[in-house]
Amino acid sequence: HLSNRLQTVSDHVEPGSRLADIGSDHGYLPIYLAKKQIISYGVVGEVAKGPLSNATSEIKKEGLLTVLHPRLADGLAAIKPDDHINTITIAGMGGILITHILEAGQSKLTGNEKLILQPNVGEKVVRKWLMTHSYRISAEQILAEDGHIYEVITAAKTAQKVRYSQREITFGPLLIKEKSPVFIAKWQEEQQALERVVKNMQKATHEDVAKIKSIQAKIQTIEEVMT
Ligand code: SAM
Repeated sequence: HLSNRLQTVSDHVEPGSRLADIGSDHGYLPIYLAKKQIISYGVVGEVAKGPLSNATSEIKKEGLLTVLHPRLADGLAAIKPDDHINTITIAGMGGILITHILEAGQSKLTGNEKLILQPNVGEKVVRKWLMTHSYRISAEQILAEDGHIYEVITAAKTAQKVRYSQREITFGPLLIKEKSPVFIAKWQEEQQALERVVKNMQKATHEDVAKIKSIQAKIQTIEEVMT
C-alpha cells in the first residue's frame, strides 16, 4: 500500500484517467493506480536511470507493461501527444523544481489536464506559478506523516483571470479557510521558528532592524491567520 502522502495524491486521480507521473522514482503511485484499475494508461517519467530501471522491473513483475509506459526523460518531455494525458502528478520534490518542470514543459500542456502537485517545501512558489499561468486551485490537502507536514495542491486551467491574495499564496486559498489542526500545527511551528530567529538577531552586536521588522510582520500575519 501507499504512504499517506501518496495516497492523498492518488485520491485526486479520477477513474479512467490517463496519467503522467513525473519524477516517479520507484513508480509506486502509477503502479498502485494501475493495479486498482483507476487509470487506464500511464506514463512513468523519470530523469534518473537507476530509479527508472527499478520502476520498470516492478511494472514488468506486476504484468502492467501494457498500461504503464516507463520513459527516461527530463520533466514533461516524457509526454507525447498520442498519450492523451489528462492528469499530471508531480510529487515529493521541492516547489521550485516543480515549477521549473512546468515552466520548461509548457509546450506539452494542452490546458485540459488536471495538475496534482505535492511540493515537499516551497508551496508558495507553486501557487504563484499556478496563478500567473491561469490555473485555479480546486483542492488542497495538508497532512502530517513521519514528522513532516505535506501539502497536496490540485489545479486546472481556466479561461478567467486567477487572482489570489498574498495570504492565499502563502497559506493556500482553501487551507486558510479550512484551518485544520495540521494547518494550525504547521504555522505554529513556523511562528516559533521565526520568533527564535528574531531573538537571535536581537542579540547580535549590529541589529538588522529592517530585517527584524520584516520577520515580525510575518509573525503578525501568521497570528492573524490563526485567530
Ligand atoms: N514522486 C515520487 C514520490 O513522491 O514518492 C518520488 C519522489 S523522488 C524524491 C523525486 C524524483 O524526481 C527522483 O527520482 C528524481 O530523479 C526525479 N526527478 C528530479 N528532477 C526531475 C526531472 N526534471 N524530470 C523527471 N524526474 C525528475
